[in-house]
Amino acid sequence: MDFRPNSAQVILVGAGPGAADLLTVRAVRALAAADVVVLDGLVGADVLDLIPARARRISVAKRRARHTLPQEQIGDLLVAEARAGHTVVRLKGGDPFIFGRGGEEVEACVAAGVPVQVIPGISAANGAAAATLMPLTHRDHASMVSFVAGECRGLAQQNWAGLAGKGRTLVIYMGLAGAGPIAEKLMADGLAPDTPVAVVERATQPDQRLVTSLLADLAGLVAREAIASPALIIVGDVATLPGRLAALAPLKEIPCPAC
Ligand code: SAH
Repeated sequence: MDFRPNSAQVILVGAGPGAADLLTVRAVRALAAADVVVLDGLVGADVLDLIPARARRISVAKRRARHTLPQEQIGDLLVAEARAGHTVVRLKGGDPFIFGRGGEEVEACVAAGVPVQVIPGISAANGAAAATLMPLTHRDHASMVSFVAGECRGLAQQNWAGLAGKGRTLVIYMGLAGAGPIAEKLMADGLAPDTPVAVVERATQPDQRLVTSLLADLAGLVAREAIASPALIIVGDVATLPGRLAALAPLKEIPCPAC
């Protein structure tokens, strides 16, 4: 894929979960061609270093319950910048199409007749799984995985029945503030209180933390460990896998064959 500056288009780019070297090659190429970069709050500092000095940066960072720019205005902004002849990169944390409102931004561009394309990114779930050695599926533990949003349009309206339990992995984005109600909801759906849970804070970043417990203790775990956003909650047997690996012989340093 060949990207050029001044080409009147919008490119939604997945910035991954934090580390700049988890961007795709295509994402790096798109960034290099950007005239304007429209940024999210979740984009990491070393990813920001990849933005060319000549590109104009516009931040539309969202924080829980404090949206600095309403979604329609972000769509309008992308369209206006592209119509002004710019190559507009919309840089979004993780993958643009996983709880990223990428769909709404694509719709805004298409409705306005502005060329738009999407470059996928490593979603937080994939980053967290790799960085903690916690496979989301495993032939012995889980043959199904679901991604849900812990605070999207109200918990009560969401039907998660059947998404968690034996043989299944449930990954909850944006679930930190609602950890207590989330655990209650899952137990009300019939999940055992001793279902394993893991919380991965700042996955793939240098200060990443993994903590584990049981479902009935999810809110307690989040409070005790003072877990802060961004964090993912993972519910299911795979949550025990990093601990099981750690209990096996500790990884030994491989001696250098030349020494
Ligand atoms: N589009 C993003 C998700 C945006 S929703 C993606 O594909 O990853 C924002 C939520 O993603 C956060 O509340 C948190 O639950 C999760 N998240 C994003 N980055 C994360 C990280 N580095 N570690 C853990 N969770 C993360």
